[in-house]
Amino acid sequence: MTDSAEFDLIRRRHHYRCSICRQPEKVTGALLPVKGKAAKGDVFSTFPVCPDHHAKYMQGFFTGIEMKKIGISPEDYQKILSEIAGERETGDGLSAAEKGSLAKEETIKKIQKAQKMKMPKVHSDYKKEI
Ligand SMILES: [Zn+2]
Repeated sequence: MTDSAEFDLIRRRHHYRCSICRQPEKVTGALLPVKGKAAKGDVFSTFPVCPDHHAKYMQGFFTGIEMKKIGISPEDYQKILSEIAGERETGDGLSAAEKGSLAKEETIKKIQKAQKMKMPKVHSDYKKEI
């Protein structure tokens, strides 16, 4: 994690604007750090982005154009995302985006299952009460 004094400097260098949409911090709310590259083949450095673009980045939804704006290739982005996922839990090779869609499928399945199991039961209980 970048310490806040360093990130203050980075924000100032970017004129307190999101690296992706160029909206000023005053409009978007506090800028947040993401990993990018200042130049192609360079080491990773920190870029400030607005909360919306931070969420999009973390969920693995950055487009090619957005990746270019912070100097990373799709391969770099994959690597960064798996590092982020690895920090949260021990990596299983899935990207954050894949995990997100898996979680969504799981939730839908659970809801469908619960509805199937619950509906007749609720119905019969209701009858008994009458
Ligand atoms: Zn933005």
